Amino acid sequence: MELIFLGTSSAIPTNYRNHSAIALKAFGEIMLFDCGEGTQRQMARARLSPMKVDKIFITHLHGDHILGVPGIVQSMAFRGRLKPLHIFGPKGISQFVENIKKLGYFSMSFQIHAHEVDGRTGICAHGPAHEQDLDGSDQRLEEEGKKGSNEKELKRTLNENFNKQDFGRVNKEDFDRELNEELNEKSDEELNDELKRFHEVKVLENENYTVTCCNMNHTVPDIAYRIEEKRNPKFLKEKAIACGVKPGPDFGKLQRGIPVKVGSRTVKPEEVLGAKRVGRKIVYSGDTRPCKQMIRFAENASVLIHESTFDSKNESKAYQTGHSTAAKAAEIAERTHVKKLVLTHISTRYKETTVLEKEAADIFEDSVLAEDLMSLEVERSDR
Ligand SMILES: [Zn+2]
Ligand SMILES: [Zn+2]
Repeated sequence: MELIFLGTSSAIPTNYRNHSAIALKAFGEIMLFDCGEGTQRQMARARLSPMKVDKIFITHLHGDHILGVPGIVQSMAFRGRLKPLHIFGPKGISQFVENIKKLGYFSMSFQIHAHEVDGRTGICAHGPAHEQDLDGSDQRLEEEGKKGSNEKELKRTLNENFNKQDFGRVNKEDFDRELNEELNEKSDEELNDELKRFHEVKVLENENYTVTCCNMNHTVPDIAYRIEEKRNPKFLKEKAIACGVKPGPDFGKLQRGIPVKVGSRTVKPEEVLGAKRVGRKIVYSGDTRPCKQMIRFAENASVLIHESTFDSKNESKAYQTGHSTAAKAAEIAERTHVKKLVLTHISTRYKETTVLEKEAADIFEDSVLAEDLMSLEVERSDR
């Protein structure tokens, strides 16, 4: 299981950092998490074929996380792809996919299925205040449009709604106090109860892994993803042979939990399987303020990939723009007992990133700041 960081910049790409995208090479496929502009070029540099990508998970619909999708889709069509592509994302992802299909001259040779995680359908609900604000914003914009208002007025409306939506509800002091309480004062039981109101939704499950998402706290709907490996218990070969099972397909059946016949007797999987084993767990935050729902969502993860746009000196700016500092990402990692923290989504102001690395390492030792094309092997913690 390998993570390849294809793009690690925030907002604008630089000479050294591309827009956000992470590839996960595992289970015989390549999954993409976010797909900023230029992702297919980064994949070529990392020697990863887009044709092996069947699933793209988008955290939110800001351009730096999605503008690589149209290009990659057109390249897939150009290469004559036939198998379907699944794109997961928050509210708006279906419309985004429809728009891609109409973009420029190209022939679609395959199906794209959009899987929308929509608060309004109750699949992955936002807090009610957030939901209302978003609805209001849509409606007001539509009304402004009907009145034929000019661009300046539209911008003013957008800004007003933007301010109401994100900064009017909770001021920074209250937000910090609440988060500190969650991080430092509350017991696990208290925390679990309180966090039940944040919906976690399983968006995908197969025999190898599950993918779950959870709403984060950005300036637009943003969802984090958690990929959990399913692991069978250890197969005790000697025991199976002692039960009369011959090496071959029957071994595989027992490993998958299916009983097999040996003469007149049935050998049950539990007779030849050891204790349960924990699979690897990867969590990716997308863009977000440090938020309390992440504490439960990322618990005991093998790797937490958390955005870290700013350092602590710019904490107010981080809050205003819906982002995290390296220190806050590290506090979350510490509280959730993850094994490794990877910082990404680095502001262009940091040509030299030592300040971010040091800030995180002072709080959580096993942290690393991602560089473009950095590869990370995700190890199992037991055999
Ligand atoms: Zn971003
Ligand atoms: Zn964003």
